[in-house]
Amino acid sequence: MIEMENVYKTYPNGVTALNGVNVKIDQGEFVYIVGPSGAGKSTFVKLMYREEKPSSGKIMINNYDLMEIKEKEIPFFRRNVGVVFQDFKLLPKMTIYENIAFALEVIEESPRNIRKRVMEVLETVGLKNKARFTPNELSGGEQQRVSIARAIINHPKIVIADEPTGNLDPETSLEIMKTFESINASGTTVLMATHSKSIVNRFKKRVIAIESGLIVRDEHRGEYGYEV
Ligand code: ADP
Repeated sequence: MIEMENVYKTYPNGVTALNGVNVKIDQGEFVYIVGPSGAGKSTFVKLMYREEKPSSGKIMINNYDLMEIKEKEIPFFRRNVGVVFQDFKLLPKMTIYENIAFALEVIEESPRNIRKRVMEVLETVGLKNKARFTPNELSGGEQQRVSIARAIINHPKIVIADEPTGNLDPETSLEIMKTFESINASGTTVLMATHSKSIVNRFKKRVIAIESGLIVRDEHRGEYGYEV
């Protein structure tokens, strides 16, 4: 469960990116964040995985109060929030297996259980046979699926994706969307900032539109709503 109340974010250079955001997202929802460039979408999602701190207001995520959270609690908070980026952010010298195992935060887990879990998530994203490859041996779509596997390794309640199909062709984007849909079908909340009109209009979900740091539209089964 995600709740924002009157959230403002002003960066140190004086730019105000969010101007009083109020929103409630229930566990298990699939939400697109849309809006023009510079509207505040990235800032909105960065607040949700605590990459940025709000300037004022209240943010509650999975029962953590992100205004009050202590530094030492942040790693625990982040275990329940998986993040997927436009540019994948895989470690180039590690194998696919290592890239995913690296993100597994189960310090006391046996090597056997770690292996089991890594192979499980690779199976979920359809890449079991690529475990020994390195990222540069995979296509863009495959690399994005590895980063999705990495994001779900700790069974997070929420997966946040910032333009996950921004570097992919339309056909590959569809496959990636199907992967997110199956993750969502298992009860995980998915929050996706996107510029893809075709995806938003094809896979109908809740649409939150942000403009000049404010939510200007919030529709269930909404449309992209901008000309591109
Ligand atoms: P979007 O993702 O919709 O393009 P952003 O959240 O990236 O929007 O940006 C919103 C506004 O905040 C823009 O004016 C941008 O220049 C500014 N901004 C974003 N990140 C920073 C930062 N780290 N420092 C200063 N200003 C920033």
